[in-house]
Amino acid sequence: MTRIGFIGLGNMGGPMAANLAKAGHSVQVFDLVAENIERAIAAGCIAAGDAREAVTSCEVVISMLPAGEHVRALWLPEGQDLLAALPEGALVIDCSTIDVDSARQVGEAARARGLHFIDAPVSGGVAGAAAGTLTFIVGGDVADFEAANPLLACMGQNLFHAGALGAGQIAKMCNNMLLAIHMAGTAEALALGVKEGLDPAVLSTIMGKSSGNNWSLERYNPWPGVMENVPAARHYQGGFMTRLMVKDLGLAMALAEHGHSAVPMGALARNLFNLHAARGQGSRDFSSIVELYLDKQDPA
Ligand code: NAD
Repeated sequence: MTRIGFIGLGNMGGPMAANLAKAGHSVQVFDLVAENIERAIAAGCIAAGDAREAVTSCEVVISMLPAGEHVRALWLPEGQDLLAALPEGALVIDCSTIDVDSARQVGEAARARGLHFIDAPVSGGVAGAAAGTLTFIVGGDVADFEAANPLLACMGQNLFHAGALGAGQIAKMCNNMLLAIHMAGTAEALALGVKEGLDPAVLSTIMGKSSGNNWSLERYNPWPGVMENVPAARHYQGGFMTRLMVKDLGLAMALAEHGHSAVPMGALARNLFNLHAARGQGSRDFSSIVELYLDKQDPA
């Protein structure tokens, strides 16, 4: 049994903390939202009065927060300075999807204090978090990655070491930029065929067995009525919010600017998802981008 501190019990962090508790670990939790803490207690976690109390005396601490500013504000001296509350040798695992600079800044500050740090963003969404089937994409020392593996395996199925500090975030941004591109492309191809009289389910089957096949088409089809158990089957509720995709595409663009990389497809995808969010769709699943291609708002 490992003593774990877990900060950030939202859509992803809540079920991840629950899976650690289910595996028999002692999980001290904190979130700014009281009902998120209550849900975690019901799942076997231990409530802490604040973030400092949650991480004090823990061998491993995990953060699952919205963005880089939240992660920096939690761990660094200009914020709550919680790195200072950890015992020497503790392992900090940040699972949030954040900018590479923030990940490296917190990682280096942790190392300077004799702590271990990995950036470990995840893929697999809310369903993967609940089922314990997430993919973890890790940056940091191999030894720290290996030390984290038994705990990550309580929450995920695929564990990858992407490279040095920050590499987890870089790989995650590359993946999500590609995801945005093939989701928008899939929506566009389906809308084109349907407008010309094709059945979206038949067209999906044809493209799924042809060279246009991809994850968005085959596993997360954006057209309502084609697939069960995807956000398109429930008016795009749950899943991966458009505003989080916009955030991730912004991170990918910043990365491209940093390395002078050309990302024309990513930039176009960012504009499409931004436009969709600006039309009031930010809280709906990102596959609702299909509505941008339709003459009316709801294809159902
Ligand atoms: P969320 O907004 O549901 O959860 C974030 C939680 O952090 C909230 O409950 C909030 O109250 C809490 N929080 C914020 N600041 C805090 C602080 N200082 N102390 C304690 N708690 C604090 O977001 P989410 O969907 O769980 O996503 C978390 C991260 O995972 C994001 O970086 C997101 O990009 C990434 N992610 C999300 C998904 C998804 O499908 N939702 C998939 C992969 C990765």
